[in-house]
Amino acid sequence: MTLAVCWSEQFAIHDSGRAGLYLPVGGLIEDDVHVDSTARITRTRNLLRTSGIDDTATILEPRKARVEEILRVHSEEHVQRMQEVSNAGGGDAGGGYTPMDEHSYDLALLSAGSALTALEAVASGENTAHALLRRSGHHAWRESGYGFCVFNNCAIVARAAREDFRLERVAVVDIDAHHGNGTEAIFYDDPTVLTVSLHQDRSFPVETGGVDRVGEGDGEGTNVNVNIPAGGGDPAYLEAFDRIVVPVLLEYRPQLVIVACGVDASLFDPMARLGVTATGFAGMAARLLDVATEVADGRLVSVQEGGYSPVYSPLCWLAFIETIGGLEVHADPFEDFIAEQPTCRELAPWHAQANEATRKHLAPYWASL
Ligand SMILES: [Zn+2]
Repeated sequence: MTLAVCWSEQFAIHDSGRAGLYLPVGGLIEDDVHVDSTARITRTRNLLRTSGIDDTATILEPRKARVEEILRVHSEEHVQRMQEVSNAGGGDAGGGYTPMDEHSYDLALLSAGSALTALEAVASGENTAHALLRRSGHHAWRESGYGFCVFNNCAIVARAAREDFRLERVAVVDIDAHHGNGTEAIFYDDPTVLTVSLHQDRSFPVETGGVDRVGEGDGEGTNVNVNIPAGGGDPAYLEAFDRIVVPVLLEYRPQLVIVACGVDASLFDPMARLGVTATGFAGMAARLLDVATEVADGRLVSVQEGGYSPVYSPLCWLAFIETIGGLEVHADPFEDFIAEQPTCRELAPWHAQANEATRKHLAPYWASL
């Protein structure tokens, strides 16, 4: 069992600026560092180092993505505009709250390239790989950036897996607390890429992510949305995996599992209300690794997405990465506090009902449900 981690010190240089939570608010309220901060990434890198991952994993310096690799997913106009905004010293990538600085275009190319480096590592013999990066990708539409995301890293990896490595079927499983709207839209009519997103019910974007969005045309059935009501915690997530996500993946039989690895479903995250613990993320990782082992020769590529608690997100990523690397998972230092939280222990009836409703809705498309 081998693991690669892709990391460049350049990911520490992007400045998202200052904000009141995430919107620039001038006046009336004292601002703070933007939630999409450097610290959430550098602290994760440092935790991986101090936890001993560097002793067993291959640490890879990522390459930049080539523009033609980005153009498999995004329009030429979007790529050009991102370059222009960066060259002008900064601005917005799309949607009004996706800040860019003068480094953002190069950094977005490096992010996509880091995800591609992880794919190349897995294609050339590593079992699993995690791309520790910023800018995130899963909200980015074909035509624009959105929700802190510039280029859709997971979609770019999925296209490369299909076109460069000739895989017939790949799956993107998005565990970020928010809907993977960009990835869904890009592959909505494409049956060769299964897109699965678990996210907080009616969170962000509010208008997307419904269970009735199952794909269209040849892709009808190959888009799966699992809405978790707030407060679901580990029990709701792991039940959704066991009853919906894992059966669907085993039936689809992807030759590569790509994970949009956001950890903003965590108990301490300011951007969602889901209550998942580091142990819960390890549980999801173990299930995804089992699926990859059973149907994809163990090939799993994990790509960093959201996760905004500078203290707790690194612990969640560590647990996820240790698990996909087949390593012993460090104990969560918040274990005693977590043991007192009901959402972490028991599946509430309304969460079980929500999962059951999702399973029933998807059953016409999947014999295993
Ligand atoms: Zn998110």
